Amino acid sequence: MAVKIDFLRTLEVEYGVCDQVSGLIRRVVAKNPSPFTFQGTGTYILGTGDVAVIDPGPADQTHIDAILTATRGERISHIFVTHTHLDHSPGCKLLQDHCTAKTHAFGPHGSGKKVSDSGVADNVEEGADNEFSPDILVHHGTVIEADTWSIECVYTPGHTSNHMCYQLREERALFTGDHVMGWSTSIISPPDGDMHAYMDSLKLLLDRDDEIYWPTHGSPITDTKDYVASFIAHRIERQEQILSCIKQGVHTIHDMVPLMYIGTPEFMYSAAARSVLAAVVHMIETGKLSTADEVSLTAKYHIASQ
Ligand SMILES: [Zn+2]
Repeated sequence: MAVKIDFLRTLEVEYGVCDQVSGLIRRVVAKNPSPFTFQGTGTYILGTGDVAVIDPGPADQTHIDAILTATRGERISHIFVTHTHLDHSPGCKLLQDHCTAKTHAFGPHGSGKKVSDSGVADNVEEGADNEFSPDILVHHGTVIEADTWSIECVYTPGHTSNHMCYQLREERALFTGDHVMGWSTSIISPPDGDMHAYMDSLKLLLDRDDEIYWPTHGSPITDTKDYVASFIAHRIERQEQILSCIKQGVHTIHDMVPLMYIGTPEFMYSAAARSVLAAVVHMIETGKLSTADEVSLTAKYHIASQ
């Protein structure tokens, strides 16, 4: 049975303009729209006076200038980073040229990855910011407080191994980075991306009491638990599609993608293949699939004999 899900929630965007989107939250969107960033990177500014910035975005001086204009007369006291992709963390350096705020994050790129790796052969990693290293490491449950805001750190590996969500406690508002996006499902690209971790991090959100999600890309989500539940259902459906491909004699990820992503433009196939690879790794780990080859896009996968 196909789960019909509409993830697309478009935002009204005026680049470089700061929007007061709630009592304590402002947002400035960077002009870096793409098939992966949707309308661009949304940088959030929290509180008044001593303010926090979440995800300064790409290394784009125009965007940094927009953040500085939005916070004129205030002090940027903290910078939080959800994860180390090029559309999220490189702006930290530029912003720190103009303020004394320290960067807070789980760790550098790849820091959440377990040593026992999945043995994925094609270790392609596009879009990682390997230069970022946080001034201050935060962990699941870390709370940081200022005069007008307080943040609880929520560790959500999957999209990347160092992905953090941040809850603004005063509004029960969760900044979901790319863990839960407002327009599409996340790309999970092994080896740093991990489907098992991603599914666990989605389930973690179901146990929380967040009233609203503010994703980096796309519009806010108020039906939080239903939305996350539909993401989980979507990934389970993808696993079923992989099994059905194999039953039809289609054994490689390379050949599965066009069958699984009907309607998706072909230039997105390589990104889609990374997510299928992540699902396949997860299915091997959970005993659903097997392969005699090294795990890759061209390896032949079989349904594991139980
Ligand atoms: Zn992003």
